[in-house]
Amino acid sequence: MGELRLGDVIDDYCVKCRRITNHSVVSILNEQPAKVRCRSCYSDHDYRHEIPPPSRKELKKAELFKEVLASVNPAASGTAEVAPESSAADVKPKKRVGKKV
Ligand SMILES: [Zn+2]
Repeated sequence: MGELRLGDVIDDYCVKCRRITNHSVVSILNEQPAKVRCRSCYSDHDYRHEIPPPSRKELKKAELFKEVLASVNPAASGTAEVAPESSAADVKPKKRVGKKV
């Protein structure tokens, strides 16, 4: 990354415009843009690295996914009843005998 200076114009995602727009750098931290101002609507916000926030739709999707997982798990643990015992038995003898000191 080259020299970054206050007032430089960079691309970033504007939440208000809901798209990537030109932004002026208004504050810099560790040679990275910290705050930027949208040149379309003039709102200041933290630099987002051009990443849009998750939409409500996506949040809802994530919630649904969790519900699906919850409904799937009980069945999975039911069929896997035998496995934990045998695998535990396999693991126990693996005590490491350290090198002689
Ligand atoms: Zn904007």
